[in-house]
Formats: sequence, structure tokens, C-alpha cells
Amino acid sequence: MAKDFYEILGVSRTASSEEIKAAYRKLALKYHPDRNPGNKQAEESFKEVSSAYEVLSDATKRKQYDQFGHTGADMGGAHGFGGFSQGQDINMENIFDMFGDIFGGGAQQKKRKKSGPLPKRGHDLAKEVTLSFEESFKGVKKDITYYHFVVCPTCEGKAAEKGTTAHACKECDGTGQTTFRQGMFAYSQPCSNCQGLGYTIPSPCKTCKGQSRVQKYDTVSVNIPAGIYDGAELRIAGKGDAGIFGGEYGDLFLKVAVMPHKQFKRVDDDLESTITLTYPQLVFGCQMDIETLDGEKETIKVSRGCPIGERIIIAGKGFPKIRGKGRGNLVITTQCDIPKKLPSDAQETLEKYSELIGTKTNGAQGSITAFFKKFLR
Ligand SMILES: [Zn+2]
Ligand SMILES: [Zn+2]
Repeated sequence: MAKDFYEILGVSRTASSEEIKAAYRKLALKYHPDRNPGNKQAEESFKEVSSAYEVLSDATKRKQYDQFGHTGADMGGAHGFGGFSQGQDINMENIFDMFGDIFGGGAQQKKRKKSGPLPKRGHDLAKEVTLSFEESFKGVKKDITYYHFVVCPTCEGKAAEKGTTAHACKECDGTGQTTFRQGMFAYSQPCSNCQGLGYTIPSPCKTCKGQSRVQKYDTVSVNIPAGIYDGAELRIAGKGDAGIFGGEYGDLFLKVAVMPHKQFKRVDDDLESTITLTYPQLVFGCQMDIETLDGEKETIKVSRGCPIGERIIIAGKGFPKIRGKGRGNLVITTQCDIPKKLPSDAQETLEKYSELIGTKTNGAQGSITAFFKKFLR
């Protein structure tokens, strides 16, 4: 026995069309499938409420219903009065159309329809790589190991078992969204049937579980160019995550960290270091060989009367320029080695030298205490 339409909407037999509309709106929102995903009871109630409204909102149908009840014969429409509870199938789409008409007139928004899953580009990934100072100077080939998504080898990114395909969701017509209206406002919700994806996969690929891609611990060999600097970012195209459903791969970004060196440092594209010389070497000048980062020997020419802190420049022996051509310079700064102790004959000679140029010192046997005693007398 079908329920009474007035009872379903919870209104009196004398309710105005406004009251009927208000009651329907309240109940339809309460039982809306989007608000009750997977709830069969709510879906049934929603259908009941909708069919009750369909009759009671139409003046002619309402009159006939009042007169003849559910057995009313001459409805002139497709639906009998039995509504949906008598096993009549209902097209949900029609309900939504009606729903839209009631709440928003013809203002139902156009939504893009999808025929199946859209390919989506994969994510870019970032990974840090640490180089020694020498590696940054000479360049190096590095094997980078990392996890990323790759196209599923079984379904080749189609996400479905062989011979089947993913197709547009019937509930939302492939849009991934269902819209309902409340008064002036339209609300969009992700479709509960397809979780907002807009498609369903009847037979998902077993390897990737319908994800179209799988995780892989992978290795990529990267040629890191000579001259790469600390903090540089290298883009390795197409080595990020695989796209979804055949979308293109993202990129892998390598963030370069360069370890410091004991002897050398980098300033722009220059390779800088210091050379420690004795006082006579600075006074008379000298030549010294130093080994640079690529193992080559470089001859450093110290001119006569070279001051401390002098920058000796060997052009073109610095870092290769990452942008543009050529190389920076090798820059060697002079320092003086001041010995704490000297052999006694060297000490005597130095004292004599000091006397000759007229400078006062504590002398070979002198100490800091003796120096201050002079003032304390
Ligand atoms: Zn697969
Ligand atoms: Zn859907």
C-alpha cells in the first residue's frame, strides 16, 4: 500500500502550494543522495518525497489525487499515482532536473562532461645531492636513487584490466560533481558514486589497483657539470612522477649541496686559497708550486717585496662558468709564517737584523715579563 502523499511531505490536505514546496525542499535536502551516500533508506525516502511533490505541486494532478487517491486512473502522464514504492523504476536524472527546476528555475549550471579519466601530469619531485668540493670543480656522474611513480607496466597507464576501459560515471555524467540548490544558492559536492573523479573503472587493473601507475625504487644517472655551485638546482626532465592515465611525467629537481674544502673556497667562479711564506720569501720574492683541485701543478710567482694579503691571480684556472663560456681565476692570497721558535743561530741573525734596521725587540732571551719589568721599575 503506497503511503499518502500528504503524509510523506508532512503537510495537511489543505496546505498551500507554498507550504508544499517548502516541505518538499526541506525533505529533499535531508534525503538527498549526496548527503547520504550509500544509504538505501534515504534514497527510497528521497524518491517518495519527489514523487509526492510531483503530484501535489501540480494543481490538476493534486485534484485528481484528492479525488481518487493512489488508484486514480486518468493521470495523463507517464507516472501513475503509485509512485516509486510500487517497484516503478525512476530515472534519477529526471528527479535532479525537477529538483533544479524547483530551486533554481533554469539556472542549472553547465558542467563539462567527461567520457573517461583525463590524463594528468605527474608531480615534480625534489631530491638533494651532496658533492665534494672537487666534484663540483671537475663535474661528476652521480647515480640518484629515489622512489617515484612509474606507468603501470600491466595496463600501460589505462588503469583497467585488459579488454576493459574506464568510463564516465553515470551518476554525475562524468563531471565529478553533483549540484543541488537551496533557495538562492547552488551547492556543488563531489559525486559520491565516483568520489568526484567523474569516471568509474568496472575492472580495475590488479597490478596498480586502478591507479594507472605504481611506485618504484629507481635509479637515474645524472651528469653533473663541472662548475656546479652549492645551492644550484638541476632539472632532470621527465624523471618525476608518472602522470595519471597516460599523463606526462613530472620532472626531478636535484638540489645540489657542495661540501666545504680545507684548503680551497669558491668566490663566484674563482677558486681561492692562501699561500704561507716566510719573511725572506716575501722580501726577496720566490716561486712555489701548488697542486690545484684537478691535480695539476700551478707555479705561483711571488714578486720581490710582496706584502701580506697580496692576491696573486692565475687567470682561467678557476671554476668553469655554468652560464657562459670560460672559467674563473685561481686566486692565491699571501700570508706570512711567523715562527714561535727559531734555531739559535737564526735567532741571533734576526736580532742583528733588527738592530741594523733600528727596531727594538724583547730579544732572543727576552720574555714578556722582562719587557714589562722595565716599565715597573
Ligand atoms: Zn595497472
Ligand atoms: Zn560521479
